[in-house]
Amino acid sequence: MKFTETYRHKGLRRQMVEALRERKVADEATLSAMLEVPRHLFFPDQAFLEKAYEDIAFRIGAGQTISHPSTVAYQTTLLQAKKGMKVLEIGTGSGYQCAVLLQLGLKVYSIERQHELFIRTRKLFESLALKPYTFFGDGYQGQPTFAPFDRILVTAGAPIVPPALLEQLVPGGRMVIPVGELDVQEMLVIDKDADGNLKQEIHGEFRFVPMLEEKNFGDGTGLIRRR
Ligand code: SAH
Repeated sequence: MKFTETYRHKGLRRQMVEALRERKVADEATLSAMLEVPRHLFFPDQAFLEKAYEDIAFRIGAGQTISHPSTVAYQTTLLQAKKGMKVLEIGTGSGYQCAVLLQLGLKVYSIERQHELFIRTRKLFESLALKPYTFFGDGYQGQPTFAPFDRILVTAGAPIVPPALLEQLVPGGRMVIPVGELDVQEMLVIDKDADGNLKQEIHGEFRFVPMLEEKNFGDGTGLIRRR
């Protein structure tokens, strides 16, 4: 990753990782990756750099947020992805979670439905020499062309587990998805065994921005409902 940063940012990042380690919300592989990724570069406005290493979510424009570092740490740890695996991320957003997955040596496919964010984050990835596959589209549909995926990570609160995503999970694969109808979601870990059977575990409550069921094409054609 190409970037410039100050010693201050490095120091703050080390403190952030240390705090996450103490809270036992992440495994060591995840913490090492988060130590390498400069979270402040994923903020839209350089005026907020000081905030980048606090455990807070932050507005990134288009009504969306960059997830708490602790949430990124927790979801990444639950994913248990091994180097070289294919991962589908729903909700590219700021690109921070995606960058952490890339740092772990994963092949990342990431979908964003807000056109403004999709364009802005794609430019950021280019400027940082990061190479995920990015898509402007609807996460409910997944990415059938590139399926199946070893891992699927949903970073928006989903009202249901989208059936297309379950289909696109490889046998032996795992999906991490916050599911809930209102503001609060339960973090589900869904494992698909070699025979295609599904097993589900619940890992606590979280608050994500909603996974939207409409697709805004961003070109003036308006909103198209999923159903
Ligand atoms: N992973 C992001 C988290 C962003 S918040 C990060 O690290 O910053 C969730 C993101 O999901 C938002 O950018 C939102 O626009 C996006 N989103 C919401 N509904 C979606 C859908 N149906 N398909 C794809 N992305 C969606």
